[in-house]
Amino acid sequence: MSAEATPLDRVALRRFLSAIPKVELHVHIEGAIQPATLLRLAARRGVDLPSDTEEGLRSWFRFRDFSEFLEAYLVCCRCLRDPEDFQLLVNDFVAEQARQNIRYTEAHFTISTHTANGANSGEITEAIRESIQEGEKSYGSRLRLIPDIVRNVGVERADETIEWALDNRADTVIALGISGKEDHPTEPFREHFLAARSAGLHRVAHAGEQAGPESIREALEICSPERLGHGVRATEDNELMTTLAADRIPLEVCPSSNIQLGIFDSMNQHPFGEIYRAGLEVSLNSDDPTFFATTLTDEYETSLVNFGLDIDELCGVALAAVAQSFLPADEKARFERRFSQEYNVLAEQLLDRTLGLEESIGAVGAERTR
Ligand SMILES: [Zn+2]
Repeated sequence: MSAEATPLDRVALRRFLSAIPKVELHVHIEGAIQPATLLRLAARRGVDLPSDTEEGLRSWFRFRDFSEFLEAYLVCCRCLRDPEDFQLLVNDFVAEQARQNIRYTEAHFTISTHTANGANSGEITEAIRESIQEGEKSYGSRLRLIPDIVRNVGVERADETIEWALDNRADTVIALGISGKEDHPTEPFREHFLAARSAGLHRVAHAGEQAGPESIREALEICSPERLGHGVRATEDNELMTTLAADRIPLEVCPSSNIQLGIFDSMNQHPFGEIYRAGLEVSLNSDDPTFFATTLTDEYETSLVNFGLDIDELCGVALAAVAQSFLPADEKARFERRFSQEYNVLAEQLLDRTLGLEESIGAVGAERTR
């Protein structure tokens, strides 16, 4: 969207971005907890939050850095303990994804945080599974989970995470992930990622967010990730940028998260445009939407307003998320076909224009055959 877009254009674009079908690849279920649900659960669990109003929570969710965010995030996780808490969390999550017409989500979930807080792994897994199935039936919005190893929490919890991932890979878990503080080593978790790989589980890794290119190189070597969470600080290393483009490792970029956590000072300084123009594969994501006061639709709008993408390019990025997902090849093809048809219809209805999607669809098709 150019700077001279009229207010009416802006409204029409917003409606378009909200209406188009989407896929989201990097969002934490716990970080998407609805403020009203958080207040309800805090009261139920006797957890003392800094505020008892939604407005107050929103002002609490302002962070100077990752550590401040992590502190608030962990307090919120203490409100989740019994199966019905997780049911509420996942029900809300799927409803919100459906509201934004997000048809498929691969979402991070940190099981070991909850078992450390006293949750019963078997019981909450059952509750979550039920909510996922219900959500799919009610809204047609599908959800698969990526349990995260937390770098700064240690190997014992990581053992528990890979075990949970493998136990639930038939219907709930799609990949193994790693998150947490990037100044902690990834090396202790090499075996976990090897086990995931040999069991046929996909792998993703948070890297290149709080730490620089070295954290990306380390994650690539140890986790053999098929996508990188963030990865935005790859721009500090030209050689690494070339490797990521050549090896076609997609970056799951979460612009608002990066600004809220002080990785970059402002959207003007965010390197999404640079990464995109350098030919790396990218998706746009909300990360922890409640904590960063955003939605996936907002992130799409940001890419038009701040990163100079035009509407055709954005639709290409939205379609690329389908190709970068871990859906089976035949389902990807079905999603891509349906999405591009709907994009064309919605562009004509809401924007009074046709899209030049041919090239992007070709690229997605080529992607699929790799
Ligand atoms: Zn994340």
